[in-house]
Amino acid sequence: MDAPVDTLHRPLRELRISVTDRCNFRCPYCMPKEQFGSKYHFLPRSSLLSFEEIHRIVRIFASLGVRKLRLTGGEPLLRRDLDRLIRMLAEIPQIDDLSLTTNGALLTREAARRLKEAGLQRISISLDTLDEEVFQAMNGVQFPLRRVLQAIEHAAAVGLAPIKVNMVVKRGVNDQAILPMARHFRGSGQILRFIEYMDVGNSNDWCSDAVLPSTELLEKIHPEFPLEALPSNHPGEVAKRWRYVDGGGEIGVITSVTEPFCEGCTRARISAAGMLHTCLFASHGHDLRAPLRSDAPDEQLRQLIGGWWEQREDRYSALRASQNTIPAKIEMSYIGG
Ligand code: SF4
Repeated sequence: MDAPVDTLHRPLRELRISVTDRCNFRCPYCMPKEQFGSKYHFLPRSSLLSFEEIHRIVRIFASLGVRKLRLTGGEPLLRRDLDRLIRMLAEIPQIDDLSLTTNGALLTREAARRLKEAGLQRISISLDTLDEEVFQAMNGVQFPLRRVLQAIEHAAAVGLAPIKVNMVVKRGVNDQAILPMARHFRGSGQILRFIEYMDVGNSNDWCSDAVLPSTELLEKIHPEFPLEALPSNHPGEVAKRWRYVDGGGEIGVITSVTEPFCEGCTRARISAAGMLHTCLFASHGHDLRAPLRSDAPDEQLRQLIGGWWEQREDRYSALRASQNTIPAKIEMSYIGG
């Protein structure tokens, strides 16, 4: 089977793998503690893909055209010995971009050093505000801000810079933090990315009034720090890039709600339980774990994955505004960001 393209002629270029559905934060826009409380049943260990299974799946996706790999969760650093998995994945020759998204809570200097040494190339760290009180409310577990700022320093110190600092902007919650965050990360060498608040999963009570359009966001920054647009690094890049005219560095905006980018979406996702999802807002998935655990040969798995991708027609964000009814979606903490 050659490199498959989907019904909208989009190739399969990027794979995001959730290595756990657990998280040590309870961010209301992703994993509100009301739904994900002490009685919530997370995936039992036996149903998680093993590192060997993940490695085999990635090898097969790489043979179908995947070049970029991102490890996600839940919170991926909750998965023990993650550096062992990274070392295995870094050896797959076709993969030329290996990254991870984390909330930074477990990213000590030693952990950062082990990830880098194992072959991790890039890291994105979530940080929604520099206001201690708002941050503790937004992570849902009163986790202290300074520990995440230290995590960013640790990642930079071991050579994982430029770090992408991901800020989900929710109107009326943390939009007053936009300029303080811009001031803080300007000239730091890190790339601050502003993410429009999205209707992921079914638990965050999303409403469009709480979305701050990226155009409005840029208008808040431009008067103080003039910006100019940058070309994308590669086709299908998620963030729109801007740079400070005075050389203060780069920022990004992720505009899933106001300027959807589905036409260039080349991303597939694998949940920690081995379900293949072809959209962040998917309502269903394809079970890869069953054939994997019934010793299906590589070629059979390639045919399965290629066939599912060729049937793909996902463009949820592009259709969001015209949808009358929204089907129940897979939770983001399960599917991985
Ligand atoms: S909504 Fe789905 S198809 Fe569109 S960019 Fe996001 S993941 Fe891709």
